[in-house]
Amino acid sequence: MTSVSPAPASSASASLQNASDIVLEARGITKCFGALTVLHGIDLALKAGEVVSIIGPSGSGKSTFIRCMNMLEKPDAGEILFRNRRVGEKYRGSGDLLGQGELRRHVGMVFQHFNLFPHMSVLENVIEGPVIVQRKPRAEAVEIAMDYIAKVGLAEKRDARPDQLSGGQKQRVAIARALAMQPDALLLDEVTSALDPELVGEVLGVVRDLANQGMTMVIVTHEISFAADVSDRVVFMENGRIVAQGSPDAILRRPDNERLKAFLARFH
Ligand code: ADP
Ligand code: MG
Repeated sequence: MTSVSPAPASSASASLQNASDIVLEARGITKCFGALTVLHGIDLALKAGEVVSIIGPSGSGKSTFIRCMNMLEKPDAGEILFRNRRVGEKYRGSGDLLGQGELRRHVGMVFQHFNLFPHMSVLENVIEGPVIVQRKPRAEAVEIAMDYIAKVGLAEKRDARPDQLSGGQKQRVAIARALAMQPDALLLDEVTSALDPELVGEVLGVVRDLANQGMTMVIVTHEISFAADVSDRVVFMENGRIVAQGSPDAILRRPDNERLKAFLARFH
């Protein structure tokens, strides 16, 4: 498979040294569903070029948190900042606020269940955002889309419908669709969890290419060795809190937190 080029091409190691390079930041995110508080004040700052993996048991709030990061879920307390601009509902406040739609133009998301439009071809799925949201001329959108479709290895499938594709191919289309918006950051929520085991590798390969090329990402995953390979930082969540975080080595190879150790033991 050929490699995938995200829009920003900054050097991860250079940019990580500068705190002003924070692309996306969550401050004190709290989220309740009815009487249930599922996130208890989560803080996370994502720097340009940084790859942060989030691991943790099912139900610990990983999906809810990552959805809060691009406001698909509205936090009950706390705030999201994109390049130091607070995200909010514009009618309430000043021009400093960034609208949610604008946030989502800069921060892409890929889901466990692909969420492709079933009645549209691969190409139509991938140009939808550039044409409808970014209002790009169709010819330009097709050119950008074909570039990303080729880079995820699916050029020959441009006219196929999702039901003619394998799960791994569908997920690669979903990644191409997110990339076609040329986002500043990408949020990936268990993008291989719905796949047959033999299809996991092709999708992880695409994500690994993105990481190597400096794409800023938050990756929720149960693929522990993959997280160890691609991440600059690993965050362990449990019961709506960040319990431990640090380098892949510190968190995954030399964990010193008992709950983290118990969680990781399930993967051996
Ligand atoms: P994870 O992704 O770590 O498995 P989730 O964020 O999906 O965890 O869920 C965290 C908790 O929030 C769980 O208890 C789940 O049942 C609950 N939850 C998630 N979404 C909703 C919702 N839309 N309505 C009610 N409860 C929800
Ligand atoms: Mg989840």
